[in-house]
Amino acid sequence: MPKLQPINKLKGFKDVLPEDYVYWNHVLAVADEVMLSGGFDRIDLPTMEKEDLYNRTTGEETDVVGKEMYTFDTSRMIGSKDKKKDKDENIVALRPEITPSMVRAYIENGMQTWPKPISLFTIGKCYRHENPQGGRYREFTQLDAEVFGEEDAAIDASLISLVWDIFQRLKMNDIEVHINSIGCTECKPRIKKMLVDYFKKKQSKLCEDCKKRLKKNPLRILDCKNERCQSTIAGAPVTIDNICEECKKHLMSVLEYLDEMGVSYNLTPNLVRGLDYYNRTVFEVTGKDDRRQNALAGGGRYDYLIEQMGGEPSPAIGFGLGIDRTVDFLKNNNIRIPKPKSKVNIFMIQLGEDAKKIALKKTRELRKMDLSTGIAIGKDTIKSQLRAADKVNALFSVIIGQREAVTNSAIIRDMRDGVQETVELEDLNGRLLNMVEERIKEEEEYKKKAKSK
Ligand code: AMP
Repeated sequence: MPKLQPINKLKGFKDVLPEDYVYWNHVLAVADEVMLSGGFDRIDLPTMEKEDLYNRTTGEETDVVGKEMYTFDTSRMIGSKDKKKDKDENIVALRPEITPSMVRAYIENGMQTWPKPISLFTIGKCYRHENPQGGRYREFTQLDAEVFGEEDAAIDASLISLVWDIFQRLKMNDIEVHINSIGCTECKPRIKKMLVDYFKKKQSKLCEDCKKRLKKNPLRILDCKNERCQSTIAGAPVTIDNICEECKKHLMSVLEYLDEMGVSYNLTPNLVRGLDYYNRTVFEVTGKDDRRQNALAGGGRYDYLIEQMGGEPSPAIGFGLGIDRTVDFLKNNNIRIPKPKSKVNIFMIQLGEDAKKIALKKTRELRKMDLSTGIAIGKDTIKSQLRAADKVNALFSVIIGQREAVTNSAIIRDMRDGVQETVELEDLNGRLLNMVEERIKEEEEYKKKAKSK
């Protein structure tokens, strides 16, 4: 047969292999732990929604929706029977961010009547058809958290402190929190007008995208990454100098609460964030050196969005934290993560056909007793199987050779010190259970002692 070309993954997508999954597991576990301890409930939402949801929330004029969204017309899919059905159902999009689904779910599931505030989080994939580069993928994973029903500045500060805590627990010290306020319905239009007046005079110095933004969303110019615009942006009116008194008070309270909680931050006047719906507090967390390129997390208030989406007016705030970039950060900065616990407590080693049959049967029995097991079927020497047991950090090995198969016995080997004992096959499971439980208890006590020192 002629050699066939393998099929590779799509550009901007990636495989997470076991050596990286250790990092993923750690980041996901810490994120989960911090959010749960902060009183958040976990939910799960679809990765695909009606396209209109994003047009009406994130905004058609944003890059995320206008340029990068994966949109499908399902009526045109091969074999589709949807051709004459509701058009609205047919045009769907893979989520470029999660807040719109959160807001939809909040309204659709009647959460408006639940006691407030409602604190929810989810972890899942997002899709953006961006130009892939370091830290920028077309498929990526976000931790998304939202608090509905409270406008007090203390909520803003405590949400930011949760993000901070996640990174602190991950020992990511070289990071910064940036905060700004972009005003409310009263002052935002005034700020927009000031910016339009300013940038109009300097239009020739702006990039093509910013020329368009000038008409549609002048605030976004402040967030432009193009080198060409930077000197003009540097001289632009500053949002926090022009927000109303109420917004100023709100921002000052957020900062005071953060001071109180010991979260360090930078007040960053041209932080505006790329999406349409934000008001008042906006924030971003970045690595110290690369603020413009690789934000690790970002969020803000969106007190008008729920009403815009057909719900009862309610204040809300949320953030998205990039799991991929967090993993990249840990790896790039050589940050140590805890050694993963051994997945395998007991490793089965066998020699000869009869021993193999016994080993397979025993493996299944041990698994049923919740003892995790490993076995290296393809390896034919005891030495190579012991090496495999070592590699997976097994606590004990069970060796069943030809002699043991005949005498209905097995050898238990302690992988820590190599001490071995022989037991009857019928006593094997009980003995192993005791030994593993004892070992786990020992390790926990050792850890407790080490912590108290
Ligand atoms: P955003 O909604 O753009 O503020 O994104 C929130 C977080 O998701 C960012 O701070 C990043 O950590 C992460 N993120 C956004 N876009 C991407 C992407 N294309 N690839 C990887 N991570 C991303």
